[in-house]
Amino acid sequence: MALGEFDLIARHFTRPVRRSPLGVGDDCALIAPAAGMQLAVSSDMLVEGRHFLSTVAPERLGHKALAVNLSDLAACGARPLAYTLALSLPRADEAWLAALASGLHALADRHDIELVGGDTTAGPLNLCITVFGEVPAGDALLRSGARAGDDLWISHPATPDEPGWLGEARLMLEIFRGTPGVRTEGLDLDRLRLAMECPQPRVALGLALRGVARSAIDVSDGLLGDLGHVLRRSGGLGARIEAAALPRSAAILRQHEALQLECLLAGGDDYELLFSADPTDRDTVSALAARAGCGVTRIGTLGAAGTPLEVVDADGRPLAAAWASFDHFLSR
Ligand code: ADP
Ligand code: MG
Repeated sequence: MALGEFDLIARHFTRPVRRSPLGVGDDCALIAPAAGMQLAVSSDMLVEGRHFLSTVAPERLGHKALAVNLSDLAACGARPLAYTLALSLPRADEAWLAALASGLHALADRHDIELVGGDTTAGPLNLCITVFGEVPAGDALLRSGARAGDDLWISHPATPDEPGWLGEARLMLEIFRGTPGVRTEGLDLDRLRLAMECPQPRVALGLALRGVARSAIDVSDGLLGDLGHVLRRSGGLGARIEAAALPRSAAILRQHEALQLECLLAGGDDYELLFSADPTDRDTVSALAARAGCGVTRIGTLGAAGTPLEVVDADGRPLAAAWASFDHFLSR
């Protein structure tokens, strides 16, 4: 059944707001951050064929569109408040829209963030979400706060049984692409697909790390490339990553070493938090992560300004490889 624009909005994207003074239906929504709070704002767009395959289940697409945005709030240590959804659709397919909305609403409810507005138009499939969060003034985690000597940490699931470990989304992409040399025997492909299609944003960890992490970023374009952004924004620091310390799931460990490192260091779509902290805060960081329901692993150390970003083997020798981070205009 074909739906008109306003019926579609009313049926799938209008829900009562609990916290915001005004949600869907007027020219603007109204959001009321608490006194002393700053608004944290971020947008992420998902384009068919570029960020997702046309075959993806619509529930998962809804989940991922919001998850990648929540991940940005997590990286800033902001508490989610509200979001808007700008949607371009080739056709108004009722079942497809209902499934997309259920994926969105389920994740939104889990993170207590409400849909307050958006825009809907006919066109190529494209979803753009803007999230709004709040953070006490001056407490946001930034890319620019790292210092030489900081420990470098990466988040991951709390247990090996949980899907969504570093590099698994990239591994699934290589399997879809049919890349030669990828070992698929014995892999749980449904689980790997979850890693790619249903990332879990580390919102609780981001909140817990306020006042402890000195810098943070979420890994969306590959660990090394995203670390490069932190190092540049923090005065040109260097970093030394120990390859042997990188958290590796069973699926990653089945691959040959070069592919493992490619997935771990240049994978992308991981949505883990990469952050730095004072070495005296090691126990604190581990305890906070456990309370936030995820794991964290120390993977290296930040170096003085002007020193390189290098990945070293177990003997401390730099590995020679060109891992490129994803860039929409330079890559592929
Ligand atoms: P305007 O013409 O004033 O820009 P629209 O007619 O485009 O408003 O939208 C009507 C209402 O529906 C607005 O409150 C808008 O925020 C909301 N809206 C439109 N599309 C969506 C969507 N995909 N999800 C949530 N709210 C939407
Ligand atoms: Mg208007």
